[in-house]
Amino acid sequence: MVGSYSPAQVTDWLLPGRDLFLAIHILGVACFAYIVARRLVPLLRAEPDPRFDRPWARLAKVCKFWLGQWKHPRYKTAGTLHILIFAGFILLATRAFTVLMVGVSGNFVMPGLSGEFGHVYNLTTDYAATIVFVCMVVAAVRRLVFRPARYEVPARFGKAHRADAIFLLALIAILMVADSLFAAARAAAQAQQGQPAEWLAVLSLPWMLQIVFASSSLLTLCNVYFGAYLLHEVTFYFLLCYRPFGIQFHVETSLFNVYFAKLERGTLKPVKWGVSDEGLDQVKSFGVKTFEDFTWKHMLDFYSCADCGRCSDNCPANTVGRPLSPRFLSIKARDYAYRHYPMFGRAGNGKPLVGNIYSEDEIWSCTTCGACEEECPLLVEYIDKIVDLRRGMVDDGNVPQSLQKPLKALESRGNPYGKLEKKKADWAHAGDFQQHCHVKTLGKSDVAETLYFVDSITSYDDRLQSIGRATAKILDHVGEDFGILGATEKDSGHEARRFGEELLFAALRDHNLAAIKASGVKRIVTADPHAFNALKHDYKTIPPVEHISQVIAREVKAGKIKFNPVENGNRIYTYHDPCYLGRHNQVYDDPRDVLDAIPGLKRVEMTRSRDRSFCCGGGGLMLFYEAKEEQRMGVKRVQMAVEAGASVIVTACPFCMVNMEDAIKVAGLEGKMTAIDLAELVDQQIAREGPKPT
Ligand code: SF4
Ligand code: SF4
Repeated sequence: MVGSYSPAQVTDWLLPGRDLFLAIHILGVACFAYIVARRLVPLLRAEPDPRFDRPWARLAKVCKFWLGQWKHPRYKTAGTLHILIFAGFILLATRAFTVLMVGVSGNFVMPGLSGEFGHVYNLTTDYAATIVFVCMVVAAVRRLVFRPARYEVPARFGKAHRADAIFLLALIAILMVADSLFAAARAAAQAQQGQPAEWLAVLSLPWMLQIVFASSSLLTLCNVYFGAYLLHEVTFYFLLCYRPFGIQFHVETSLFNVYFAKLERGTLKPVKWGVSDEGLDQVKSFGVKTFEDFTWKHMLDFYSCADCGRCSDNCPANTVGRPLSPRFLSIKARDYAYRHYPMFGRAGNGKPLVGNIYSEDEIWSCTTCGACEEECPLLVEYIDKIVDLRRGMVDDGNVPQSLQKPLKALESRGNPYGKLEKKKADWAHAGDFQQHCHVKTLGKSDVAETLYFVDSITSYDDRLQSIGRATAKILDHVGEDFGILGATEKDSGHEARRFGEELLFAALRDHNLAAIKASGVKRIVTADPHAFNALKHDYKTIPPVEHISQVIAREVKAGKIKFNPVENGNRIYTYHDPCYLGRHNQVYDDPRDVLDAIPGLKRVEMTRSRDRSFCCGGGGLMLFYEAKEEQRMGVKRVQMAVEAGASVIVTACPFCMVNMEDAIKVAGLEGKMTAIDLAELVDQQIAREGPKPT
């Protein structure tokens, strides 16, 4: 009877229990292996991606982001549900294996899980099964009734996968119920037969079911016991084999996706791994044009996307109605892979992705702000893919009209405005400025310890030149021996690279690298986060680079910079994190520490701050791109500052400044809101002896 028999010992079915369950195991495992092997086909045809280095750093990522579910609490309800389900799955893995083995070996006990420890483990997993079951119900109700906005699918991106999600939730719930029925029927039968019964955790699902079965006949218990077992077996293998067809494939792939995730922020994938810059001339086709041009890791990303919508929920392009939602970059590519790499038959058709599954505007709409990657709990990467798709379009001569002129100007003059090189240092020779602050132009006669890398927008834009002057005055105030490259400096090429113009970027970089080397400087400072990111991550063999906010914070701490109190105590300041200073380079505290060191300055945080900062609309060439959008990103950001109760937005990036000042006008907030760069504010507030320099 149930208490002493295991499913392996059933003899009154078509096949003996052991044979039946062994057949199910073999069939289930074989189907799963076949399906996974087919899913691996495109990865084997993909571009290489060297992600097998630094195993300890990768394991640390797995511990933090996969096992530790680090990013999930950023969304409280969904995050808590996911953590509970994940913990339940981890705990239940051994129990599920034990249950499966009982079908072929009646007395199977997992090594280490006998005796008292085994009882404790069983009690724990009773609760785990119950919690997972409840979470499935809650998740289904959320998807069906409350329907959080981020799960919805706008018509332009295809159809919702809601039915798939609900079906999978139902399968997991059935698995938990089958597991609990099996344990409950066995315990109830053991009790009825006076055998020592397995303890069931009080108030758990098996415990409640055991109470329901207390007065059932042994025959009923027997049927429930073997029926539940069969249901468990079939559901388990069906779920295992069904997951690689939908969004739940991430259950299998996420561990690998996190292990192979990118280790460095702010960096960009080279055009082709294994091809040096010198070898780029020999590359026949740049970037991603067909699905097979993605790297295997990027394809693994597509398989691993859980369709949770967090990336798109935080994507500024999506928020302002641009035709881009990062989640759908993954979903559309995954659907493409499933369609063109079928389970049976020939695979792949090599159709261009842009024009078939992606639109041009979709790919140009990204500001490379990194909010999507910051948010993704599974570390799915987007920027490298978007840049690779742009490289493919640039290679085909497919560049938006509005970008053609600045790109040509970058090529011919070294700046996107087409201004003369000899005017690059004009900001440093303006009016009274040079009487108070002498800025050396490094070259044959002038040398310095530190290079102030100014970059194009600060050098040429009349409004933003004041950031250049403020930066120079601060460096001068702290006694830094510094100079600029002047006419020799070309654009850092940061945005050219992110717009897919790799060769143009390489030319700009090589020119600047030679100039920097010739100047003999020992370190570099810049006030432009885009230049900062380029110099730090895109250039190689270069002296250490700092953003001016880091220099100021250090000098404030060292006592070399002291501040006068703010004159208007009614003003409320808020700090806007530039994407390439914050998210891409993790400089969050230094600018805030500087602001907090100014006496009388009242500061508030916007809801979206630090790593959740909302992009102002993008820098560099984004200023020239005419995006299709319902609202400007800058306007949205300024509204966030208003909601926080601020009247002054402080930023630390000349591009943010342009976008913010523009947005303040567009939003009709002139007179109520102002924007200022951190360097400008510091320069205003520095306590100097003698007359204040202008
Ligand atoms: S990419 Fe990441 S954040 Fe975006 S939907 Fe997929 S799993 Fe969620
Ligand atoms: S990088 Fe920014 S703009 Fe681009 S897809 Fe991600 S969140 Fe959206």
